[in-house]
Amino acid sequence: MASDTSRRRSWRHKLSFLLRLNKEHRQRPAYESNEKLATTAESISNSPCYTTKTIATSIPSTKLPAECRKEIISMVFGQHTSTPQEFHIHKDVLCFWSDYYRTAAGAFTSEPSSITSSLPNESAYIFGVFEIFCYTNELTDKHGISRINLGFDTLCALWIFGSRYSAPALQNAVMTNILVKSDTENVIPCRMLNYVYENTMRGSPLRAFFVDRMAFSNGVKEYVLNNEERWTKEILRDLLVTVSGLGKEEKDRNDLPRGRYGCYYHIHNEGERCGSAAPIGKAT
Ligand SMILES: [Zn+2]
Repeated sequence: MASDTSRRRSWRHKLSFLLRLNKEHRQRPAYESNEKLATTAESISNSPCYTTKTIATSIPSTKLPAECRKEIISMVFGQHTSTPQEFHIHKDVLCFWSDYYRTAAGAFTSEPSSITSSLPNESAYIFGVFEIFCYTNELTDKHGISRINLGFDTLCALWIFGSRYSAPALQNAVMTNILVKSDTENVIPCRMLNYVYENTMRGSPLRAFFVDRMAFSNGVKEYVLNNEERWTKEILRDLLVTVSGLGKEEKDRNDLPRGRYGCYYHIHNEGERCGSAAPIGKAT
């Protein structure tokens, strides 16, 4: 049996590994835009999307293989607070949905079946929604609030969590819900813009959605004139580049083109798409 000293050294090593891995993931561009393929009449199977190389599944409706449900690990949030929250989840389920956890799995193998990992910078609420998604393919929180009834703040935080932990299926499920929620409620959630830009990289599909949603709106002038403190140079540059590429008819349509639904803002491996069975908004 390992001594307390060697156990502490082992945990310091694991924590250091996870923090380094997390930092590398945050710095690495995760996907490339496939903008040049955009048309307004493509079918789902060949519609454009953002491409990446992922082992973790990128299709939200994918069912878990039975062999995933073996070793259980514990995830603790707020470990040093008065209200720590603990989750118990199958290690291979995490690996199935997340390339980050797949890479980090090496740090989880030398201990007994139940281990603890502290993720102090992440929200337990957001991880809780991710955990439910991992087992049900549905976006639902612990209170039963689901899909487009989740707030834009929760949906954006989930997408950013998926980006940090390389979980493209979560990102794609969330993106579909942001798109449908924005369309159904006829809302462009501009209040989320700064949060999105502060937590995503240039070329991110989440940034692209927000910019496109504004650019294809006939209210873009009012958006820019109001709440001036919101408009950073980076946001205005992206908006200007997008708006300058649109014709008058596109600016006046006040809706995203049909081709922007489906997998357009999704992240997939080259040639991979959600397919007609997936709940992907207007294109279905
Ligand atoms: Zn897709």
